[in-house]
Formats: sequence, C-alpha cells, structure tokens
Amino acid sequence: LASKDAHPQPSVVNVSGVKIGGGYLAMIAGPCAVEEPERMHNIAKAVRTAGANIFRGGAYKPRTSPYAFQGHGEDGLKLLREVGDAHGMPIVTEVMDPRCVETVERYADMIQIGARNMQNFVLLTEVGRTRKPVLLKRGMSATVEDLLMSAEYILSQGNPDVVLCERGVKGFDKVTRNLYDVASVAVVKGLSHLPIIVDPSHATGKPALIPPCALAGIAVGADGVHIEVHDCPEKALSDGPQALLPHKYAELMVQLKGLAALM
Ligand code: PEP
Ligand code: MN
Repeated sequence: LASKDAHPQPSVVNVSGVKIGGGYLAMIAGPCAVEEPERMHNIAKAVRTAGANIFRGGAYKPRTSPYAFQGHGEDGLKLLREVGDAHGMPIVTEVMDPRCVETVERYADMIQIGARNMQNFVLLTEVGRTRKPVLLKRGMSATVEDLLMSAEYILSQGNPDVVLCERGVKGFDKVTRNLYDVASVAVVKGLSHLPIIVDPSHATGKPALIPPCALAGIAVGADGVHIEVHDCPEKALSDGPQALLPHKYAELMVQLKGLAALM
C-alpha cells in the first residue's frame, strides 16, 4: 500500500486543512515538550508569524532516564490544543503507549510515532485504526524498507494518511547527535507515494546545523521540515541544546520559502 505501484501519484495528506505532499509543504515547529502556558503561547506566536503551519509539542516524552521529565500528559494535550487553536495551527503530538491512543486522538490533529516506537507494531496497529493523520518517524537503526513496512502497518488498518519523517540514524561520529540521512528522502520518493519530511533538529542535535540541513532536505525533495524551537533553550524541559531560537527560525523560514519557490 505504501508503494508507488499501488498509487503512482504522490499522496496529499490533509491535517485539519493543512496539506502535506504533492507540492504542499509541512512547516512543523514548536518546543520538544509541552511546557508552561505563557511560554507555549510565545513560541506559537513566533513560529506562526514566521510561517509555520503545524504546531508541535510532546505531552508524553520518551526519555532515556526514567527519572527525567516525562511530559505533562493529558494536561499537556489540553494546553497544546488550546495554544494551537489560539494561534490558528493544527497540532501534532507523540503517542508512546497503545493505551493512550484514544486520549491523544481526542486532542491532536496529527499523531506522532517517535523513532523509538517505529517498530512498536501494536502501537502502529492502534493508530492505524484511528482516522487521524500519522507522522511516522524513522527509527534510529531502521532501514528505509523497515520504515515503509511500518507505514504499511498503519495503512493496512485503513488509515491512508501517513507522513514519513527522516530524523537521523545512529552514526559513529559524535560530531552530530545522529547521522542525517538526507539521501533517504530521495530513496523514499523513488519507492513510495507517501509524503516525507525531514527533522534536522533530532538529526543533528545542533542549532547551527539545523538551517543548512533543513535547506538540504527541501532541496532533495522533502515535503516539509520539522524543527524544535524554544525561546529560552537553557530552561527547556527537554532537548534544549538543539532548540532553535525563534528569530533564527524566522530567518530560516525566509530561506526555505525562497528555495521552495525555485523547486
Ligand atoms: C521528538 O520529536 O521530540 C522526538 C522525541 O523525536 P524522535 O522520536 O525522532 O527522537
Ligand atoms: Mn525532541
């Protein structure tokens, strides 16, 4: 179902009015985690003004340590919904547990499956049963074929709205957080009709590398970019060191729009 043989034209996924694929770009931005209300409104206002069309934030965070901040849960979902509505953006947020799919579905416009859960087949089946678009992130050790087979789990449940995301794979060099596999976007374009976006934030882990890598993603044919933005990265509850400041995001958006206009 994910293959071009099944569907030769590029699919366009509609996230509460925002189209992704077939020439339409997803500009997803927001903090890693849902944080306090004032901060969320500030970040949303800044990214919306810069041209973001979908707001992100995690209410359930996959953390390496069980003692690290785990997210605000349903309260976080409520706040994200409120902030998205206030600033006119649909929202995307991660679900990690099949038992939470119903709750996340109630608040979100798009459901994110994180890299760590790309092969959680029970979770994929559950989100496949919903009628919400799914943002499926590539696992850190997953091949392109693994990614497409995971999409197949969702599609085969009757949910046709899957957007893939290249977010870097495990590399050997600590100079970047992950190894940004920008070629995978072109590979996916050759195999599948599904939209694919890039996440240079998690791929590189370094704010200075986000703009060039976001541009590279669009240049290679990605259907959008997913970027973590925070107004005070030192105080961020998660992924602060890789957050882009709002004014840097606005600068990048000007460049991205210029590049997209040439394509
Ligand atoms: C995230 O989007 O904040 C996240 C945890 O991403 P990934 O699953 O790609 O690590
Ligand atoms: Mn993050």
